[in-house]
Amino acid sequence: MPATAGAPQALEANNARLDAAKVKLDAVLASSEALRVALASPLVAQAIGMIFVDKAFSASSKARMQEMVANIKAALGERLRSLEWMGAATRERALEKLAAMGTKIGYPDKWLDFTDADVGAYPYAENWMRAKAFAVRRDIARLGSPVDRAEWFMSPHIVNAFYNGSGNEIVFPAGILQPPFFDPRADDAVNYGGIGMVIGHEITHGFDDRGRRFDAKGNMTDWWSTEDASRYLDRAGRVERHYGGYVGIEDIAVNGKLTLGENISDIGGARIAWLEARALKFG
Ligand SMILES: [Zn+2]
Repeated sequence: MPATAGAPQALEANNARLDAAKVKLDAVLASSEALRVALASPLVAQAIGMIFVDKAFSASSKARMQEMVANIKAALGERLRSLEWMGAATRERALEKLAAMGTKIGYPDKWLDFTDADVGAYPYAENWMRAKAFAVRRDIARLGSPVDRAEWFMSPHIVNAFYNGSGNEIVFPAGILQPPFFDPRADDAVNYGGIGMVIGHEITHGFDDRGRRFDAKGNMTDWWSTEDASRYLDRAGRVERHYGGYVGIEDIAVNGKLTLGENISDIGGARIAWLEARALKFG
């Protein structure tokens, strides 16, 4: 499996956890077709994620993604620095937020420990309840502990990506880091056009109509000057009206207000991914 942590002991522990997860999942898979469904439970999903990553996502892909994220973040930084309508104080806070934005790529640095999850060749419902009991025991055991910012809320095999406002972080599970989004054998043009746009989209979510309400630490604070907030809302209103003019089916139009965050992120994401791809080619 790819090297996930710097220290050899941590790597060894991760390998042991991977082996243990494989044994447990083999026992479940061997029992019956219906039990495969039990694997879909998010409670043991990370065990599937471990095996997926082992087969389908390399450390070199992770490194290439880290580089793309850094480049696209830098492209947004340049845009923020040259934005004509934003005042100095807000700009400083926006740049601070961008710099503090965390990135999770592929898989967790530290896998969950499934040693105490008593799942296996049981009926579907029982397996589900055992997985649930394991998750509840784990949650109770960590009550009162500090927030674990390294925790993953989505299993690595899922084809999705997201921005988490309260953690100020962007997350790209290994599931989406496959063709056609990301291809380690393809050149930058292909990857910036695919996952690059997704990276730009998720980063921009940190500054969309909802994301902008969270600060660099992920706290819900208003870091916008009154003037800049009203200039932002004026521009966001134009995006809202523009998309509200698109008719989807028969006479049903897009609700520009409900889709505003996605539309802002699509426009911003495509733009910064393109700016970066162009800079790499012609810069
Ligand atoms: Zn989105």
